[in-house]
Order: sequence, then structure tokens, then C-alpha cells
Amino acid sequence: MITPQVSIIIPVYNEEGNVAQLQKELELALKDVSYELLFVDDGSRDRTVERIQRKPGVRIVEFEKNTGQSAAMYAGLAAASGKILVLIDGDLQNDPSDIPRLLAELDRGADLVCGYRLNRRDTWFKRVQSQIANRVRSRFTMDGVRDTGCTLKAMRRECREALIPFHGMHRFIPALVKGLGYRITEIPVKHRPRLHGASKYNLGNRALRATIDMFGVRWFLDRQIKFMIKTSK
Ligand code: UDP
Ligand code: MG
Repeated sequence: MITPQVSIIIPVYNEEGNVAQLQKELELALKDVSYELLFVDDGSRDRTVERIQRKPGVRIVEFEKNTGQSAAMYAGLAAASGKILVLIDGDLQNDPSDIPRLLAELDRGADLVCGYRLNRRDTWFKRVQSQIANRVRSRFTMDGVRDTGCTLKAMRRECREALIPFHGMHRFIPALVKGLGYRITEIPVKHRPRLHGASKYNLGNRALRATIDMFGVRWFLDRQIKFMIKTSK
């Protein structure tokens, strides 16, 4: 097998109504790119896995049981073989047609490109919650991005070494990558309403945990070991 240039990592948990359409849209958006689609099934109890069309360039990692979005993303990033790693939600809320624009930003020299959702297509309650969370998190972790809640991101392979596996990590990818000195940029991306299946989060299981994680990440960034070895003259 030829090593693909780009790995698309898609965490999916009970997304049977979305994966087939997503796969079609990804194939269309990436027709000029050498890529692999890496679905990480996070213990779905519906027909998600059966709905993924198996063919060359499509890989499926299946968790034994539901372990969480961060775990699925971490496992996908670890298993990916591309030089460039793209993260996208499996529920069609992100639009694959934005991916070429993310890749163009990497070409221009960024190490991590984060999408931010221009017109959020979620309930007002979720939008307000997310706005507050993004603002607090961005100040506190100094990640410098306005919407870490947007999964759609592209990074050079090296950036994944900055990530540490903990539940909730997916909200701190920019903070961790920037913490090691990588160049981050942001571009606006489309956002769509969820048409099939349900969100896996609510206020109770997101706000409190994400706040605790924020303190942990801040501590980690303050105490993280960074060193550079002298190169011989
Ligand atoms: N997801 C996952 N494991 C989980 C929760 C979510 O793999 O335990 C996936 C989910 O299938 C989707 C993405 O993570 O592809 C984002 O989840 P969701 O759409 O529920 O989040 P929201 O859009 O509400 O922030
Ligand atoms: Mg969603």
C-alpha cells in the first residue's frame, strides 16, 4: 500500500444515519488528494460499522466499548499513517468540502489549522454554552483560538506528539500543540444542523468536566518539560 498523504480521522458513536453520506462527501471533497479514511468506532450499539463502505483507503478501528470522543480521536491519530492528519466529526455537522482549505493553510506554513464555526447550527442554549466555554478556555489555556469545540482541524503529523491521552483532551488540542511552540492558525468553516441521531453531550456532562480539565491543562502547560539539545558545530 502507498502511504497516503492525508489521514482523515472520524470518531463515530451511534452515527448509523450519518456515516454513509459522510463517506460520500469525503470522497468527493478529497478526489484530488492521496488519503485514507480512518473511522474510529467508539463502541456503537447501532449499525454504524455496517454502514461504512469497506474499500481500499478505508480503515476501521473498533473499540470494544464506548470510551469517549477524546479516546477515539487519540487512537485514530495514533493509528494514522498520513503526513497530514485531519479531524472531523462523524455526524455531518462539519462539512468535508472545507478540508481542501484547511490543507492549503498547512501549505502556507501553519502546523495546525483549526476551523471555527461561522454560523453555528445548534440550539441557542448550546451556542451560548459553547461561547462561554470557548472564551474562558481560550483565556485560561492561552490557546489563542476562538472555537476549540469545532472538531474540524488539520495538523502536520509531528503535532500529535504534543497530545496527551486523557478524557477531555479533544477540547485542548490547540492549547497542547501551541504549548510546544507549533504555529497555529484558524479559518472559518461551515456548520450544519445534526439531521440524524443525537448529540452525545449535555450541560451536565460537558461544562463541569471541561472546566476541571482546563485547570489540569493549565497546570500541565506550566510544568511541561521542554528542552532543546545543542547541535554540534
Ligand atoms: N463521539 C464519540 N464518542 C463519544 C461521543 C461522541 O466518538 O463518546 C463522536 C460522535 O459520534 C461525533 C463526534 O464525536 O462524531 C461529536 O459528537 P457530538 O456530535 O455528539 O457532539 P456535539 O456536536 O454535540 O458537540
Ligand atoms: Mg455534533
